[in-house]
Amino acid sequence: MGRGGGGWGFAFRGAPAKVADVQESETIQCPFCGQSNDLVLDTSVASQRFTTDCEVCCRPFEVFAECEPGEVLSVEVPAN
Ligand SMILES: [Zn+2]
Repeated sequence: MGRGGGGWGFAFRGAPAKVADVQESETIQCPFCGQSNDLVLDTSVASQRFTTDCEVCCRPFEVFAECEPGEVLSVEVPAN
């Protein structure tokens, strides 16, 4: 009973999540040109900060996201 030989170990409770279920798409707004960009987030990472390029004006900007597995709690684009 209990834990099979896994590798993951600590983060998941209950049944293992399917990998596809942790990816969620969100729409964010470019701080430079104001256009919407679609973004795919890995919700298995609780708190993440990364830089992405705007699809419209190609400028890089920072994105800060908070997630639970399978759900995006918040996405922010901090103003510089
Ligand atoms: Zn832009």
